[in-house]
Amino acid sequence: MNNAIAVQTRQYCQLIAGEWVNADDGDAFDDMNPYSGEVFARIPASGSAEVQRAVEAAHKAFPAWAAMGARERQALFLKAADILERRADEVVLIMAQETGTATPFARFQIQWASGFLRQAAGYPYLPGGEIVQSDTPGVFAMAVRRPLGVVAGISPWNGALALGFRTIVAPLACGNTVVLKPSEEAPVSAGLLMGEIMTEAGFPAGVVNVVTHAPGAVGPIADHLFESRKVRAYNFTGSSATGALLAARAGKHLKRIALELGGYNPMIVLKDADLDYAVDTAVFAAFFHQGQICMNTRKILVERSRYEDFLARFAARARDIKPGDPSDPRNKIGPLINDAAAEKVKQAIKQAVDKGARIVAGGGSEGRCVEPTVLVDVPRDAPIHCEEVFGPVVIVQPFDTEQEAVDEANGTDYGLTASVMTADVWQGITLGGRIQAGMVNVNGPTMGGEPQIPFGGVKDSGWARFGRWAIDTFSDLNLITVSNDKRRYPL
Ligand code: NAD
Repeated sequence: MNNAIAVQTRQYCQLIAGEWVNADDGDAFDDMNPYSGEVFARIPASGSAEVQRAVEAAHKAFPAWAAMGARERQALFLKAADILERRADEVVLIMAQETGTATPFARFQIQWASGFLRQAAGYPYLPGGEIVQSDTPGVFAMAVRRPLGVVAGISPWNGALALGFRTIVAPLACGNTVVLKPSEEAPVSAGLLMGEIMTEAGFPAGVVNVVTHAPGAVGPIADHLFESRKVRAYNFTGSSATGALLAARAGKHLKRIALELGGYNPMIVLKDADLDYAVDTAVFAAFFHQGQICMNTRKILVERSRYEDFLARFAARARDIKPGDPSDPRNKIGPLINDAAAEKVKQAIKQAVDKGARIVAGGGSEGRCVEPTVLVDVPRDAPIHCEEVFGPVVIVQPFDTEQEAVDEANGTDYGLTASVMTADVWQGITLGGRIQAGMVNVNGPTMGGEPQIPFGGVKDSGWARFGRWAIDTFSDLNLITVSNDKRRYPL
Protein backbone atom coordinates (compact mmCIF):
# COMPACT_ATOMS: atom_id res chain seq x y z
CA MET A 1 0.00 0.00 0.00
CA ASN A 2 1.73 3.17 -1.07
CA ASN A 3 1.01 6.73 -0.22
CA ALA A 4 -0.51 8.28 -3.33
CA ILE A 5 0.35 11.89 -3.11
CA ALA A 6 3.35 13.22 -4.94
CA VAL A 7 3.34 16.78 -3.65
CA GLN A 8 5.69 18.25 -6.29
CA THR A 9 3.74 17.12 -9.32
CA ARG A 10 0.40 17.27 -7.51
CA GLN A 11 -0.94 14.33 -9.42
CA TYR A 12 -3.32 12.72 -7.00
CA CYS A 13 -4.71 9.20 -7.00
CA GLN A 14 -7.83 7.95 -5.25
CA LEU A 15 -8.12 5.18 -2.67
CA ILE A 16 -9.96 1.98 -3.57
CA ALA A 17 -9.49 -1.30 -1.71
CA GLY A 18 -6.27 -0.07 -0.11
CA GLU A 19 -4.70 0.85 -3.46
CA TRP A 20 -4.00 4.36 -4.72
CA VAL A 21 -5.33 4.34 -8.27
CA ASN A 22 -6.13 6.60 -11.21
CA ALA A 23 -9.50 6.69 -12.89
CA ASP A 24 -9.95 3.58 -15.06
CA ASP A 25 -9.53 5.47 -18.32
CA GLY A 26 -6.79 7.72 -16.90
CA ASP A 27 -9.05 10.78 -16.99
CA ALA A 28 -8.22 13.59 -14.56
CA PHE A 29 -9.48 17.10 -13.98
CA ASP A 30 -7.93 20.38 -12.81
CA ASP A 31 -8.48 21.28 -9.18
CA MET A 32 -8.12 25.09 -9.11
CA ASN A 33 -6.58 27.44 -6.55
CA PRO A 34 -9.43 29.91 -5.96
CA TYR A 35 -7.09 32.80 -5.11
CA SER A 36 -4.52 32.55 -7.90
CA GLY A 37 -6.67 30.80 -10.49
CA GLU A 38 -3.80 28.37 -11.10
CA VAL A 39 -4.12 24.60 -11.20
CA PHE A 40 -3.54 23.28 -7.70
CA ALA A 41 -3.71 19.60 -8.58
CA ARG A 42 -4.82 16.98 -11.08
CA ILE A 43 -7.50 14.68 -9.68
CA PRO A 44 -8.89 11.36 -10.98
CA ALA A 45 -12.18 11.84 -12.82
CA SER A 46 -14.02 8.64 -11.96
CA GLY A 47 -17.38 7.16 -12.79
CA SER A 48 -19.56 4.24 -11.86
CA ALA A 49 -16.98 1.45 -12.35
CA GLU A 50 -14.58 2.92 -9.80
CA VAL A 51 -17.27 3.61 -7.20
CA GLN A 52 -18.66 0.13 -7.70
CA ARG A 53 -15.25 -1.33 -6.87
CA ALA A 54 -15.01 0.94 -3.83
CA VAL A 55 -18.39 -0.27 -2.56
CA GLU A 56 -17.35 -3.90 -3.16
CA ALA A 57 -14.11 -3.30 -1.26
CA ALA A 58 -15.93 -1.68 1.66
CA HIS A 59 -18.45 -4.55 1.69
CA LYS A 60 -15.66 -7.13 1.73
CA ALA A 61 -13.74 -5.33 4.48
CA PHE A 62 -16.82 -4.92 6.70
CA PRO A 63 -16.98 -8.25 8.63
CA ALA A 64 -13.36 -8.11 9.81
CA TRP A 65 -13.56 -4.41 10.66
CA ALA A 66 -16.82 -4.87 12.59
CA ALA A 67 -15.23 -7.73 14.53
CA MET A 68 -11.98 -5.92 15.36
CA GLY A 69 -11.38 -5.53 19.09
CA ALA A 70 -11.94 -2.22 20.83
CA ARG A 71 -8.29 -1.67 21.81
CA GLU A 72 -7.00 -2.21 18.29
CA ARG A 73 -9.67 0.03 16.78
CA GLN A 74 -9.10 2.76 19.36
CA ALA A 75 -5.38 2.80 18.61
CA LEU A 76 -6.04 3.47 14.92
CA PHE A 77 -8.18 6.56 15.60
CA LEU A 78 -5.65 7.93 18.06
CA LYS A 79 -2.84 7.39 15.59
CA ALA A 80 -4.80 9.15 12.85
CA ALA A 81 -5.25 12.17 15.14
CA ASP A 82 -1.50 12.24 15.80
CA ILE A 83 -0.72 12.09 12.08
CA LEU A 84 -3.12 14.91 11.30
CA GLU A 85 -1.51 17.08 13.96
CA ARG A 86 1.98 16.18 12.77
CA ARG A 87 1.01 17.26 9.24
CA ALA A 88 -0.78 20.43 10.40
CA ASP A 89 1.48 23.00 8.67
CA GLU A 90 1.30 21.16 5.36
CA VAL A 91 -2.49 20.75 5.69
CA VAL A 92 -2.92 24.49 6.36
CA LEU A 93 -1.13 25.20 3.08
CA ILE A 94 -3.15 22.63 1.14
CA MET A 95 -6.40 24.13 2.43
CA ALA A 96 -5.25 27.64 1.52
CA GLN A 97 -4.28 26.61 -1.98
CA GLU A 98 -7.18 24.30 -2.74
CA THR A 99 -10.09 26.00 -0.96
CA GLY A 100 -9.01 29.58 -0.18
CA THR A 101 -9.07 28.88 3.55
CA ALA A 102 -7.06 31.38 5.61
CA THR A 103 -4.89 30.15 8.47
CA PRO A 104 -7.22 30.75 11.46
CA PHE A 105 -10.04 28.65 9.99
CA ALA A 106 -7.63 25.99 8.76
CA ARG A 107 -6.09 25.63 12.26
CA PHE A 108 -9.55 25.55 13.80
CA GLN A 109 -10.53 22.72 11.47
CA ILE A 110 -7.44 20.69 12.30
CA GLN A 111 -8.26 20.96 15.98
CA TRP A 112 -11.94 20.06 15.36
CA ALA A 113 -11.02 17.10 13.12
CA SER A 114 -8.42 15.67 15.49
CA GLY A 115 -11.09 16.05 18.20
CA PHE A 116 -13.48 13.92 16.12
CA LEU A 117 -10.82 11.23 15.83
CA ARG A 118 -9.95 11.29 19.54
CA GLN A 119 -13.58 11.28 20.67
CA ALA A 120 -14.38 8.43 18.29
CA ALA A 121 -11.45 6.46 19.68
CA GLY A 122 -13.57 6.05 22.82
CA TYR A 123 -16.70 4.80 21.02
CA PRO A 124 -15.60 1.16 20.80
CA TYR A 125 -15.50 1.15 24.62
CA LEU A 126 -18.97 2.63 25.08
CA PRO A 127 -21.64 0.16 26.21
CA GLY A 128 -22.66 -1.88 23.17
CA GLY A 129 -26.30 -2.02 24.24
CA GLU A 130 -28.66 -2.34 27.20
CA ILE A 131 -30.45 -4.95 29.25
CA VAL A 132 -34.18 -4.47 28.74
CA GLN A 133 -36.88 -5.64 31.16
CA SER A 134 -39.26 -8.19 29.69
CA ASP A 135 -42.87 -8.60 30.86
CA THR A 136 -42.62 -12.33 30.18
CA PRO A 137 -41.41 -14.33 33.18
CA GLY A 138 -38.05 -16.02 32.58
CA VAL A 139 -37.19 -13.94 29.52
CA PHE A 140 -33.89 -12.09 29.46
CA ALA A 141 -33.82 -9.30 26.86
CA MET A 142 -30.87 -7.38 25.42
CA ALA A 143 -30.78 -4.46 23.00
CA VAL A 144 -27.48 -4.77 21.15
CA ARG A 145 -25.79 -2.16 18.96
CA ARG A 146 -24.63 -3.43 15.59
CA PRO A 147 -22.92 -1.63 12.74
CA LEU A 148 -24.88 -1.21 9.52
CA GLY A 149 -22.35 -2.21 6.86
CA VAL A 150 -21.17 0.16 4.14
CA VAL A 151 -21.87 3.88 4.72
CA ALA A 152 -21.44 6.36 1.86
CA GLY A 153 -20.14 9.78 2.88
CA ILE A 154 -20.68 12.88 0.75
CA SER A 155 -18.70 15.89 1.94
CA PRO A 156 -18.78 19.61 1.05
CA TRP A 157 -15.87 21.89 0.17
CA ASN A 158 -16.39 24.69 2.66
CA GLY A 159 -15.23 23.30 5.99
CA ALA A 160 -13.40 20.73 3.93
CA LEU A 161 -11.06 19.11 6.44
CA ALA A 162 -13.28 19.03 9.52
CA LEU A 163 -16.35 17.99 7.58
CA GLY A 164 -14.46 15.44 5.48
CA PHE A 165 -13.44 13.74 8.71
CA ARG A 166 -16.89 14.20 10.27
CA THR A 167 -18.35 12.42 7.25
CA ILE A 168 -16.43 9.22 7.97
CA VAL A 169 -15.31 9.16 11.61
CA ALA A 170 -18.56 8.33 13.43
CA PRO A 171 -19.61 5.70 10.87
CA LEU A 172 -16.18 4.04 11.15
CA ALA A 173 -16.14 4.20 14.93
CA CYS A 174 -19.50 2.40 14.98
CA GLY A 175 -17.90 -0.47 13.02
CA ASN A 176 -19.01 0.46 9.50
CA THR A 177 -16.78 0.71 6.46
CA VAL A 178 -17.00 3.79 4.26
CA VAL A 179 -16.88 5.11 0.72
CA LEU A 180 -16.18 8.83 0.81
CA LYS A 181 -17.10 11.01 -2.15
CA PRO A 182 -15.61 14.44 -1.52
CA SER A 183 -16.76 17.65 -3.14
CA GLU A 184 -15.29 18.22 -6.59
CA GLU A 185 -14.22 21.67 -5.29
CA ALA A 186 -12.05 20.16 -2.54
CA PRO A 187 -11.22 16.58 -3.46
CA VAL A 188 -7.95 16.70 -1.52
CA SER A 189 -8.94 18.62 1.63
CA ALA A 190 -12.36 16.95 1.93
CA GLY A 191 -11.42 13.44 0.82
CA LEU A 192 -7.96 12.31 -0.30
CA LEU A 193 -6.31 13.68 2.84
CA MET A 194 -8.67 11.56 4.93
CA GLY A 195 -7.66 8.55 2.85
CA GLU A 196 -3.97 9.29 3.32
CA ILE A 197 -4.16 9.81 7.05
CA MET A 198 -6.34 6.78 7.75
CA THR A 199 -4.10 4.61 5.56
CA GLU A 200 -0.94 5.77 7.31
CA ALA A 201 -2.62 5.17 10.67
CA GLY A 202 -3.12 1.53 9.65
CA PHE A 203 -6.84 1.27 8.89
CA PRO A 204 -7.12 -2.01 6.96
CA ALA A 205 -7.52 -2.02 3.17
CA GLY A 206 -11.10 -1.38 2.08
CA VAL A 207 -12.26 0.12 5.38
CA VAL A 208 -11.85 3.65 4.01
CA ASN A 209 -12.28 4.26 0.29
CA VAL A 210 -12.21 7.66 -1.42
CA VAL A 211 -13.55 8.17 -4.95
CA THR A 212 -13.26 11.47 -6.82
CA HIS A 213 -15.11 12.88 -9.83
CA ALA A 214 -14.93 15.88 -12.13
CA PRO A 215 -17.22 18.91 -11.72
CA GLY A 216 -20.62 18.24 -13.24
CA ALA A 217 -20.00 14.49 -13.26
CA VAL A 218 -21.41 13.32 -9.94
CA GLY A 219 -24.32 11.53 -11.68
CA PRO A 220 -22.96 8.01 -12.30
CA ILE A 221 -21.27 7.90 -8.88
CA ALA A 222 -24.42 9.05 -7.08
CA ASP A 223 -26.51 6.58 -9.08
CA HIS A 224 -24.38 3.69 -7.90
CA LEU A 225 -24.17 4.86 -4.30
CA PHE A 226 -27.96 5.31 -4.08
CA GLU A 227 -28.98 2.21 -6.05
CA SER A 228 -26.53 -0.29 -4.54
CA ARG A 229 -28.08 -2.65 -2.00
CA LYS A 230 -24.65 -2.90 -0.38
CA VAL A 231 -24.68 0.73 0.77
CA ARG A 232 -26.78 0.78 3.92
CA ALA A 233 -26.74 4.49 4.90
CA TYR A 234 -25.49 7.94 3.92
CA ASN A 235 -23.77 10.76 5.75
CA PHE A 236 -24.35 13.97 3.81
CA THR A 237 -23.20 17.52 4.53
CA GLY A 238 -24.00 20.18 1.97
CA SER A 239 -26.76 22.43 0.68
CA SER A 240 -30.41 21.96 1.59
CA ALA A 241 -31.37 21.59 -2.07
CA THR A 242 -28.97 18.66 -2.60
CA GLY A 243 -29.91 17.21 0.80
CA ALA A 244 -33.60 17.15 -0.12
CA LEU A 245 -32.80 15.43 -3.40
CA LEU A 246 -30.62 12.80 -1.76
CA ALA A 247 -33.07 12.21 1.10
CA ALA A 248 -35.69 11.35 -1.52
CA ARG A 249 -33.27 8.95 -3.22
CA ALA A 250 -32.37 7.27 0.07
CA GLY A 251 -36.03 7.13 1.09
CA LYS A 252 -36.95 5.36 -2.13
CA HIS A 253 -34.92 2.37 -0.90
CA LEU A 254 -35.85 2.89 2.78
CA LYS A 255 -32.25 3.69 3.69
CA ARG A 256 -31.27 6.20 6.32
CA ILE A 257 -29.41 9.41 5.60
CA ALA A 258 -27.86 11.87 8.03
CA LEU A 259 -28.36 15.43 6.78
CA GLU A 260 -26.32 18.49 7.80
CA LEU A 261 -27.51 21.31 5.57
CA GLY A 262 -27.50 25.06 5.05
CA GLY A 263 -28.25 27.78 7.56
CA TYR A 264 -29.51 31.36 7.85
CA ASN A 265 -28.35 32.18 11.31
CA PRO A 266 -29.66 35.14 13.31
CA MET A 267 -27.88 37.02 16.06
CA ILE A 268 -30.06 39.02 18.47
CA VAL A 269 -28.46 41.91 20.35
CA LEU A 270 -30.57 43.01 23.33
CA LYS A 271 -30.28 46.54 24.70
CA ASP A 272 -28.39 45.42 27.81
CA ALA A 273 -25.66 43.64 25.80
CA ASP A 274 -21.98 44.57 26.07
CA LEU A 275 -21.77 46.37 22.73
CA ASP A 276 -18.01 46.04 22.22
CA TYR A 277 -18.24 42.31 22.73
CA ALA A 278 -21.37 42.08 20.55
CA VAL A 279 -19.48 43.84 17.72
CA ASP A 280 -16.44 41.56 18.12
CA THR A 281 -18.70 38.52 18.06
CA ALA A 282 -20.65 39.74 15.04
CA VAL A 283 -17.50 40.51 13.02
CA PHE A 284 -16.13 37.02 13.63
CA ALA A 285 -19.45 35.24 13.10
CA ALA A 286 -20.40 37.08 9.92
CA PHE A 287 -17.08 37.15 8.07
CA PHE A 288 -14.99 34.16 9.20
CA HIS A 289 -14.01 32.09 6.15
CA GLN A 290 -15.46 34.97 4.07
CA GLY A 291 -18.99 33.91 5.00
CA GLN A 292 -18.73 30.41 3.56
CA ILE A 293 -19.62 28.47 6.70
CA CYS A 294 -23.07 27.03 7.32
CA MET A 295 -23.00 28.69 10.78
CA ASN A 296 -22.04 32.24 9.73
CA THR A 297 -24.35 34.93 11.08
CA ARG A 298 -26.55 36.13 8.20
CA LYS A 299 -28.83 38.57 10.03
CA ILE A 300 -28.13 40.76 13.06
CA LEU A 301 -31.18 42.01 14.93
CA VAL A 302 -30.41 44.89 17.29
CA GLU A 303 -32.77 46.40 19.85
CA ARG A 304 -33.64 49.84 18.47
CA SER A 305 -32.07 51.95 21.25
CA ARG A 306 -28.63 50.43 20.43
CA TYR A 307 -29.07 50.01 16.69
CA GLU A 308 -27.29 53.12 15.37
CA ASP A 309 -24.40 52.72 17.78
CA PHE A 310 -23.96 49.04 16.96
CA LEU A 311 -24.22 49.64 13.21
CA ALA A 312 -21.61 52.41 13.18
CA ARG A 313 -19.07 50.33 15.12
CA PHE A 314 -19.80 47.11 13.25
CA ALA A 315 -19.58 48.73 9.80
CA ALA A 316 -16.26 50.36 10.72
CA ARG A 317 -14.82 46.99 11.73
CA ALA A 318 -16.16 45.33 8.57
CA ARG A 319 -14.45 48.00 6.40
CA ASP A 320 -11.11 47.14 8.05
CA ILE A 321 -11.12 43.50 6.94
CA LYS A 322 -9.53 43.00 3.56
CA PRO A 323 -9.61 39.68 1.72
CA GLY A 324 -6.26 38.50 0.36
CA ASP A 325 -4.07 35.52 -0.44
CA PRO A 326 -4.97 32.91 2.19
CA SER A 327 -1.50 31.33 1.93
CA ASP A 328 -0.19 34.46 3.65
CA PRO A 329 -0.91 34.03 7.37
CA ARG A 330 -1.35 37.79 7.74
CA ASN A 331 -4.60 37.59 5.75
CA LYS A 332 -7.57 36.63 7.87
CA ILE A 333 -9.98 36.02 5.00
CA GLY A 334 -9.50 34.87 1.43
CA PRO A 335 -11.40 34.42 -1.85
CA LEU A 336 -14.71 32.69 -2.51
CA ILE A 337 -14.40 29.15 -3.79
CA ASN A 338 -14.97 29.85 -7.50
CA ASP A 339 -16.24 32.40 -10.02
CA ALA A 340 -19.82 31.14 -9.85
CA ALA A 341 -19.89 31.51 -6.05
CA ALA A 342 -18.51 35.06 -6.24
CA GLU A 343 -21.02 35.95 -8.96
CA LYS A 344 -23.92 34.60 -6.86
CA VAL A 345 -22.92 36.75 -3.90
CA LYS A 346 -22.52 39.86 -6.04
CA GLN A 347 -25.91 39.23 -7.64
CA ALA A 348 -27.58 38.81 -4.25
CA ILE A 349 -26.15 42.16 -3.10
CA LYS A 350 -27.23 43.87 -6.31
CA GLN A 351 -30.70 42.36 -6.12
CA ALA A 352 -31.13 43.66 -2.57
CA VAL A 353 -29.83 47.12 -3.50
CA ASP A 354 -32.11 47.24 -6.57
CA LYS A 355 -35.02 46.62 -4.22
CA GLY A 356 -34.00 49.45 -1.88
CA ALA A 357 -31.33 48.06 0.49
CA ARG A 358 -28.37 50.26 1.42
CA ILE A 359 -24.74 49.18 1.61
CA VAL A 360 -23.06 50.62 4.70
CA ALA A 361 -19.78 48.73 4.35
CA GLY A 362 -18.11 46.81 1.55
CA GLY A 363 -20.02 45.95 -1.57
CA GLY A 364 -16.91 45.82 -3.76
CA SER A 365 -14.97 42.87 -5.09
CA GLU A 366 -11.86 41.96 -7.00
CA GLY A 367 -11.99 38.67 -8.82
CA ARG A 368 -13.15 36.05 -6.39
CA CYS A 369 -12.40 38.25 -3.37
CA VAL A 370 -15.55 39.95 -2.08
CA GLU A 371 -15.33 42.66 0.58
CA PRO A 372 -17.13 42.11 3.88
CA THR A 373 -20.47 43.72 3.16
CA VAL A 374 -23.08 45.12 5.55
CA LEU A 375 -26.60 45.75 4.28
CA VAL A 376 -29.43 47.67 5.97
CA ASP A 377 -33.03 48.46 5.01
CA VAL A 378 -33.24 45.15 3.20
CA PRO A 379 -36.82 44.69 1.97
CA ARG A 380 -38.64 41.45 2.74
CA ASP A 381 -38.92 40.49 -0.90
CA ALA A 382 -35.12 40.48 -1.39
CA PRO A 383 -34.10 36.79 -1.23
CA ILE A 384 -31.15 37.64 1.04
CA HIS A 385 -33.70 38.66 3.69
CA CYS A 386 -34.25 35.01 4.56
CA GLU A 387 -32.15 32.84 2.21
CA GLU A 388 -28.57 31.69 2.67
CA VAL A 389 -26.13 33.69 0.52
CA PHE A 390 -22.80 31.92 0.88
CA GLY A 391 -20.41 34.84 1.21
CA PRO A 392 -19.28 37.76 3.41
CA VAL A 393 -22.63 39.57 3.46
CA VAL A 394 -24.75 40.30 6.50
CA ILE A 395 -27.96 42.20 7.16
CA VAL A 396 -28.43 44.46 10.19
CA GLN A 397 -31.89 45.51 11.25
CA PRO A 398 -33.51 47.06 14.34
CA PHE A 399 -36.34 45.56 16.41
CA ASP A 400 -38.68 47.01 19.05
CA THR A 401 -40.08 44.01 20.91
CA GLU A 402 -38.71 40.59 21.75
CA GLN A 403 -41.61 39.00 19.88
CA GLU A 404 -40.55 40.90 16.78
CA ALA A 405 -36.96 39.67 17.20
CA VAL A 406 -38.15 36.07 17.59
CA ASP A 407 -40.44 36.32 14.54
CA GLU A 408 -37.60 37.77 12.46
CA ALA A 409 -35.17 35.13 13.67
CA ASN A 410 -37.64 32.37 12.79
CA GLY A 411 -38.68 33.93 9.49
CA THR A 412 -36.55 31.57 7.43
CA ASP A 413 -36.87 27.95 6.32
CA TYR A 414 -33.51 27.19 7.93
CA GLY A 415 -32.83 26.40 11.58
CA LEU A 416 -29.16 25.68 12.19
CA THR A 417 -27.79 28.09 14.80
CA ALA A 418 -28.59 31.39 16.52
CA SER A 419 -27.06 33.66 19.11
CA VAL A 420 -28.39 36.03 21.74
CA MET A 421 -26.25 38.78 23.27
CA THR A 422 -27.44 40.06 26.64
CA ALA A 423 -26.28 40.87 30.16
CA ASP A 424 -29.22 38.84 31.49
CA VAL A 425 -28.28 35.23 30.89
CA TRP A 426 -31.69 33.85 31.89
CA GLN A 427 -33.38 36.20 29.49
CA GLY A 428 -30.95 34.95 26.85
CA ILE A 429 -31.81 31.33 27.59
CA THR A 430 -35.55 32.05 27.53
CA LEU A 431 -35.38 34.03 24.32
CA GLY A 432 -32.98 31.51 22.78
CA GLY A 433 -35.45 28.74 23.56
CA ARG A 434 -38.02 30.45 21.34
CA ILE A 435 -35.73 30.41 18.31
CA GLN A 436 -36.14 27.50 15.92
CA ALA A 437 -32.51 26.41 15.72
CA GLY A 438 -30.62 23.23 16.48
CA MET A 439 -27.97 25.23 18.38
CA VAL A 440 -28.33 28.51 20.30
CA ASN A 441 -25.41 30.32 21.91
CA VAL A 442 -26.05 32.95 24.58
CA ASN A 443 -23.23 35.49 24.55
CA GLY A 444 -21.37 33.51 21.91
CA PRO A 445 -21.18 33.49 18.12
CA THR A 446 -23.50 31.50 15.87
CA MET A 447 -20.36 29.64 14.91
CA GLY A 448 -18.50 26.94 16.69
CA GLY A 449 -17.76 23.28 16.50
CA GLU A 450 -16.63 20.77 19.05
CA PRO A 451 -16.56 17.05 18.46
CA GLN A 452 -18.66 16.07 21.46
CA ILE A 453 -21.60 18.47 21.04
CA PRO A 454 -24.93 17.42 19.49
CA PHE A 455 -24.14 19.43 16.37
CA GLY A 456 -27.07 19.76 13.99
CA GLY A 457 -30.03 21.75 12.78
CA VAL A 458 -33.81 21.72 12.50
CA LYS A 459 -36.19 22.60 9.64
CA ASP A 460 -34.37 22.86 6.29
CA SER A 461 -31.00 22.70 8.05
CA GLY A 462 -31.32 18.93 8.38
CA TRP A 463 -31.77 16.42 11.15
CA ALA A 464 -28.40 14.79 11.88
CA ARG A 465 -26.78 15.07 15.30
CA PHE A 466 -23.06 14.51 15.77
CA GLY A 467 -21.18 13.83 18.97
CA ARG A 468 -22.16 10.53 20.61
CA TRP A 469 -25.71 10.96 19.25
CA ALA A 470 -24.36 9.95 15.84
CA ILE A 471 -24.11 6.40 17.17
CA ASP A 472 -27.91 6.16 16.93
CA THR A 473 -27.69 7.02 13.24
CA PHE A 474 -24.79 4.81 12.26
CA SER A 475 -25.73 1.63 14.11
CA ASP A 476 -28.78 -0.59 14.47
CA LEU A 477 -30.24 -1.50 17.82
CA ASN A 478 -31.18 -5.18 17.69
CA LEU A 479 -33.18 -7.05 20.31
CA ILE A 480 -32.08 -10.49 21.45
CA THR A 481 -34.13 -12.41 23.98
CA VAL A 482 -33.42 -15.65 25.83
CA SER A 483 -36.27 -17.69 27.31
CA ASN A 484 -34.94 -19.43 30.39
CA ASP A 485 -38.20 -21.28 31.01
CA LYS A 486 -40.41 -23.05 28.54
CA ARG A 487 -43.00 -20.53 27.48
CA ARG A 488 -46.72 -21.19 27.40
CA TYR A 489 -48.63 -20.23 24.28
CA PRO A 490 -52.35 -19.66 23.61
CA LEU A 491 -52.26 -22.01 20.59
P1 NAD B 1 -23.55 21.01 -2.34
O1 NAD B 1 -24.88 20.52 -1.89
O2 NAD B 1 -23.47 21.68 -3.66
O3 NAD B 1 -22.51 19.80 -2.42
C1 NAD B 1 -22.25 19.00 -1.30
C2 NAD B 1 -21.81 17.63 -1.77
O4 NAD B 1 -22.89 17.03 -2.48
C3 NAD B 1 -20.63 17.65 -2.75
O5 NAD B 1 -19.80 16.55 -2.48
C4 NAD B 1 -21.29 17.49 -4.09
O6 NAD B 1 -20.47 16.90 -5.06
C5 NAD B 1 -22.43 16.57 -3.72
N1 NAD B 1 -23.55 16.58 -4.67
C6 NAD B 1 -24.08 17.65 -5.31
N2 NAD B 1 -25.11 17.23 -6.09
C7 NAD B 1 -25.22 15.89 -5.91
C8 NAD B 1 -26.08 14.89 -6.44
N3 NAD B 1 -27.04 15.18 -7.30
N4 NAD B 1 -25.91 13.61 -6.03
C9 NAD B 1 -24.94 13.29 -5.15
N5 NAD B 1 -24.07 14.19 -4.63
C10 NAD B 1 -24.22 15.48 -5.00
O7 NAD B 1 -23.00 21.93 -1.18
P2 NAD B 1 -21.60 22.69 -1.11
O8 NAD B 1 -21.67 23.87 -2.01
O9 NAD B 1 -20.47 21.74 -1.27
O10 NAD B 1 -21.58 23.17 0.42
C11 NAD B 1 -22.13 24.35 0.85
C12 NAD B 1 -23.48 24.11 1.51
O11 NAD B 1 -23.34 23.16 2.55
C13 NAD B 1 -24.04 25.35 2.17
O12 NAD B 1 -25.43 25.40 1.98
C14 NAD B 1 -23.69 25.14 3.64
O13 NAD B 1 -24.51 25.87 4.53
C15 NAD B 1 -23.87 23.67 3.76
N6 NAD B 1 -23.09 23.14 4.90
C16 NAD B 1 -23.73 22.65 6.00
C17 NAD B 1 -22.99 22.21 7.09
C18 NAD B 1 -23.64 21.67 8.34
O14 NAD B 1 -22.95 21.06 9.14
N7 NAD B 1 -24.93 21.89 8.56
C19 NAD B 1 -21.60 22.25 7.03
C20 NAD B 1 -20.99 22.74 5.89
C21 NAD B 1 -21.75 23.17 4.82
